[in-house]
Amino acid sequence: MFKNLIGGEWVEGARVSRNINPSDTRDVVGEFAQADAAQATQAIAAATQAQSAWGLSTPQQRFDILDAAGAEILARKAELGDLLAREEGKTLPEAIGEVVRAGNIFKFFAGEALRIGGEVVPSVRPGVGVEVTREPMGVVGLITPWNFPIAIPAWKIAPALACGNAVVIKPADLVPGSAWAIADILHRAGLPAGVLNLVMGRGSEVGQVLLNDKRVNAISFTGSVATGQRIAQACIARMAKFQLEMGGKNPMVVLDDADLDVAVSAALNSGFFSTGQRCTASSRLIVTEGIHDRFIAAMAEKMKALKVDDARKKGTDIGPVVDDKQLAQNLEYVAIAKAEGARLVAGGEAIDSNSDGAPGYYMRPALFAETTAPMRINREEVFGPVVSVIRAKNYEEALALANDTEFGLSAGIATTSLKYATHFKRHVQAGMVMVNLPTAGVDYHVPFGGRKGSSYGPREQGRYAAEFYTTVKTAYTAA
Ligand code: NAD
Repeated sequence: MFKNLIGGEWVEGARVSRNINPSDTRDVVGEFAQADAAQATQAIAAATQAQSAWGLSTPQQRFDILDAAGAEILARKAELGDLLAREEGKTLPEAIGEVVRAGNIFKFFAGEALRIGGEVVPSVRPGVGVEVTREPMGVVGLITPWNFPIAIPAWKIAPALACGNAVVIKPADLVPGSAWAIADILHRAGLPAGVLNLVMGRGSEVGQVLLNDKRVNAISFTGSVATGQRIAQACIARMAKFQLEMGGKNPMVVLDDADLDVAVSAALNSGFFSTGQRCTASSRLIVTEGIHDRFIAAMAEKMKALKVDDARKKGTDIGPVVDDKQLAQNLEYVAIAKAEGARLVAGGEAIDSNSDGAPGYYMRPALFAETTAPMRINREEVFGPVVSVIRAKNYEEALALANDTEFGLSAGIATTSLKYATHFKRHVQAGMVMVNLPTAGVDYHVPFGGRKGSSYGPREQGRYAAEFYTTVKTAYTAA
């Protein structure tokens, strides 16, 4: 049984939840304690008590703990990658890559703990000194989704601790194993009791307590738009600072002058890999007339070779969907697209079992052609391996279509034209832009986030993370 970490102690929950392997639903990854509202409140109390001492800890102390945690995560990448692939369903190479990312994030923020500085500014008044410094926010609540079970907890926990905050984290119910591993590693790395509290459990119960408790000074959330809106309302009602990373309907534009192989491989990767379960996945391919038919033919040909199988099997390109609900949602969107008049080019059907006959939540990636911007398939996030192609007359129309969405997380363009690449980087309404690269797959040391309906508040990751996890103080001293 994997327990919750509250005030430096491993404690049983009010209930137990079974973590199921989506590649083989007979396989139970482990039994995990589920906290209730009372335990979530205890975790907040423990964090509140630990906060002041941690806020005054030396940068060296924070560096040592974060650096040790990063080193252990990197050293255990094969084992933690296997756990991640088993609980979430991304392929083993993808899962190991995510673990390495998490390890590097801890190493990066270990260094950032040493670099938190301020400014000494000349005053406009004679005989006065001005200092601008950054202080911790206090207790922060972190709420994470299931699709990056280790990287997202890492990219919230590491900067929160580096900046001197105490943390209560509630990971997604479907994938508690990877977040539990981070809590265990940090606990053993010498983090003082109560500085990091792990409360696994339901969003509506444990998450809601974090939103409502006045002692939680800031909430960092990644997940769906619907939950994000609920979080925004709860935080505004009590004036808590918050940051939201939510959905996407990310466009990738393919121009006539694109290198066809580059465009197809970027579209396959960002549309279908990780089973399309990435907020940065390209789900809208906007393709200009001159290359449209060749592009679709090449995509269909390459899709035939994609192997959908057990996430941990060698040679698997696409693992299962995370659970039965998400699979049902994906298949519903396939049906919606067909009903709206889109042409199914390939895939879209569920597969009951893997190549060993084990039951799991598998589906063949789906590609739709002849879709138009108003269709639901082009407006709503599916969060599965379902991609649609929109035909565009020229670059200008393609750019307008790319921006015709409520979302604005990531956007890509495949082109050999410097003119169009430069224009697109400047004018696409997204937080991240990729030229001749998949829209998913980003570095760990630079800002991550979007605009419009995709994100709210300061960026995550890189040096910019400090904007959220610190508050600025301006001090005046008579000289
Ligand atoms: P979700 O919104 O269902 O859940 C996210 C987290 O919120 C979970 O831990 C959940 O338990 C918790 N939660 C649910 N109800 C709550 C409540 N009332 N109060 C407090 N917490 C509550 O999202 P999900 O299905 O886990 O994740 C998929 C979504 O996440 C997709 O929309 C995807 O685009 C998005 N996502 C965004 C990014 C990004 O950085 N933009 C990254 C990954 C995933």
